[in-house]
Order: sequence, then structure tokens, then C-alpha cells
Amino acid sequence: MELIETVVRAKEVVAQWREEGLTIGLVPTMGALHEGHESLMETARAQCDRVVVSVFVNPLQFGPNEDYDAYPRDIARDASICESHGVDAIFHPSVEEMYGPLFHTFVVEEVLTDTLCGASRPVHFRGVCTVVTKLFNIVQPHKAFFGQKDAQQLAIIKRMVADLNMNVSIVGCPIVREADGLAKSSRNSYLSPEERQAALVLSQAVAQGQEAVRAGERDAARLRQAMVACIEAEPLASIDYVEVVDGQTMQPVDTLGSSVLVAMAVFIGSTRLIDNFLWEESEEA
Ligand code: AMP
Repeated sequence: MELIETVVRAKEVVAQWREEGLTIGLVPTMGALHEGHESLMETARAQCDRVVVSVFVNPLQFGPNEDYDAYPRDIARDASICESHGVDAIFHPSVEEMYGPLFHTFVVEEVLTDTLCGASRPVHFRGVCTVVTKLFNIVQPHKAFFGQKDAQQLAIIKRMVADLNMNVSIVGCPIVREADGLAKSSRNSYLSPEERQAALVLSQAVAQGQEAVRAGERDAARLRQAMVACIEAEPLASIDYVEVVDGQTMQPVDTLGSSVLVAMAVFIGSTRLIDNFLWEESEEA
């Protein structure tokens, strides 16, 4: 496995693979790798001849008062995790390598970014779309793998790839959870033991929401209210949003239609965590 730090070297390596007719899978990450990332690597490994994991804490997708500086970084540990999953290369550029002093070009999706995390984190998806476009141009993957954990991000990336005719297939992968239900996240490491316990309220609200929908609830306001009540019962939790939106447009719905995303962001202390479930009408019993 090669640890690549420059764009020039990454392009050289992937050009060689493409010449040999090999398929390339890309798993974009910000590092601090956990089993959620590992499941993306495994899926990529099963579907592609060569797998590249990018590890880059992208300053463009953090707001001014967010955790860019505090975000956990440990490339040696990340590299050994990648190695154990048969990854062929890690792309780990510096900020300067990705954004030179004259960098002024951004990729902006203008509709799906209005709601949910886009509403609370105004510059976030501009940063995500821009860095993912750069990674696609550098690594030239046939397939790129993203987690359903960041459901809005996945929808936006799919929209961007379709809108801009990018030559890459986007593969969505299921949410990986801890044994007690908490969605795996690099940010879980910020939680104190009490907060870790309190954080269970997200997956509990998700489970409660899923159960209500399974039992026939189709009213978005009532569904939302039940989940809000579940979260508000936890004193360490404060809600950023709980929303019921259309699975494609990310716009709020009144009644559950054919594809619905139920998504939340909740502060546990000062740590902002997200969780969601997607409900498709075909799941109806
Ligand atoms: P991040 O390093 O947080 O930017 O995440 C990199 C990729 O891993 C994104 O596509 C995430 O959606 C995905 N991911 C993060 N956590 C999980 C999880 N618990 N289950 C599945 N995918 C995840």
C-alpha cells in the first residue's frame, strides 16, 4: 500500500492502473477511521480492482466556529486500518497541496443543500462538493463509496454527479452502528462517558420513528413530534433539527410519500451528532 501525498503522484498511479484496464474505487474520508469507513472499504474492495482511501480533513467544509482544529488526526493508525482491508493507496494531501494560494473555484449544488445540515451549516456542502470534485478529478475513480449516515451528502453528491456529467458511479452504503445502536462517527470520541450514554437518544429516536412508520404513521408532523419528545427527554441533548423530508429533493413533506428521509442533528453537550433513516414505500408490509 502506498501513502500518496501529492496530486502529481496520485495522478501517475491511477493513470498506470487505468492503462492496465483496472477499475478504481475511491472512499473519501476525513480519517479517524472506524468501522463505518471500514465497511465502505470492504464494499469498494469487493467491487473494484484497486481501492484508494482519501484521508483529508477538508477545511472548506467547516464553519468558523466548528471543530476543524479539534478534529482527530492519526494517519499512522488510519494507514494500518487501510492496510488491513487490502487498500492499495491512501491519498493524504496537505491543505496547501489541495488549496493553493490562488484557489478560488467552488462547486455549489443549490437546492438539496437548503435544508437539514445545509441550513445549520451554510458553507458545509459547498466545501464537500468542491473537495469531492477535486478528489474525483485527481483519483479518476470508476466508483466512489459514501455512507448513508450522511444521507443528505449522499443525495447531493448523486445530484452533482448527474448534473455535471461526472464519469463516476456513486455507491451508497448502510449505516454501521455500535452494539447499542449509536451510529459510528469520528466525533463520538469527543463524548464523555455520560454524554456517550446520552447519545443513545439519537438511535432510540430513529428506532422509535421507524417503528411508528411501520405501524402506519404517515403524518410527518406527528412522526416528528414523537421523535422530538424522545430526544427532549434527555437533559444532555439539544436538538439542532429533526426533519421529515422527501428522499430525493430533501424538502419537508406533510405526508409520508414514496421515499422519505427522516433525519436529525442533535448536540450532546457541545458535540453535534447526526442520524437518520430512509423509508421507501416498497418497505410497507
Ligand atoms: P467522514 O470521515 O466522517 O467524512 O466520513 C467518510 C465517509 O464514511 C462518508 O461517506 C460517511 O457517510 C461514511 N461514514 C461515516 N460514518 C459512517 C457509519 N457509521 N456508517 C456508514 N458510513 C459511515
